[in-house]
Amino acid sequence: LNGIVAVDGPSGTGKSTAARGLARALGAAYLDTGAMYRAVTLAVLRAGVALDDATGLARVAGETRLGMRTHPDDPGVLLDGVDVRQEIREQEVTGAVSAVSAVPEIRELLVERQRSLIDASTRPRGGIVVEGRDVGTVVAPDAGLKVYLTASADARAHRRTAQDAAEGRPADRERVHADVRRRDTLDSNRAVAPLRMAEDAVSLDTTELSLEQVLSRLRELADG
Ligand code: C5P
Repeated sequence: LNGIVAVDGPSGTGKSTAARGLARALGAAYLDTGAMYRAVTLAVLRAGVALDDATGLARVAGETRLGMRTHPDDPGVLLDGVDVRQEIREQEVTGAVSAVSAVPEIRELLVERQRSLIDASTRPRGGIVVEGRDVGTVVAPDAGLKVYLTASADARAHRRTAQDAAEGRPADRERVHADVRRRDTLDSNRAVAPLRMAEDAVSLDTTELSLEQVLSRLRELADG
């Protein structure tokens, strides 16, 4: 390992829990790149910019002060100094984030931020686990370990629903199912950095695995 672990894949594959757990186990930092796209999306919604106004979206992203806390026990997201970790999980943000993350200028801006966060934490500390969609392909192609998590659409919708319920958000399986499919299509077909597995990534199908099993497999890979 060179201190960077990339954990990519679509939503509902157990990515966040596994990536955070791995960071904890390794004594490493943790960066959730999806949270950065979500925070910019929250800023866009608050600014009232239309989702098809790419110039307006990029402008809001450029003006946004985004702070990421990279401790796996307290991975906060600060928007203009205020912690928005709850707000960025809300339905309105989830519904709009794929449109925002498809804007090339926004990706450029966030990828640059992600690289400096990675640089800052690999040097003095015990490495960093970075979770997202394009970490192994674009953000950190030199990561020492790349894992790509997959799971059936059913399993992913099921996990997202359970997560919503556990975190006190309205849990509606049909809606989550539709949202998971819609985001997969948008994220996989956008022009810039579409969701795909890096050629040198280890792929792990988590459909039949518990979150504990996913984590223990990641730990084996990191040790091995
Ligand atoms: O991982 P999460 O579901 O929080 O990501 C939210 C959205 O952010 C994804 O649906 C995708 O549109 C975008 N994203 C991205 N690139 C990343 C991480 C997330 O485009 N590296």
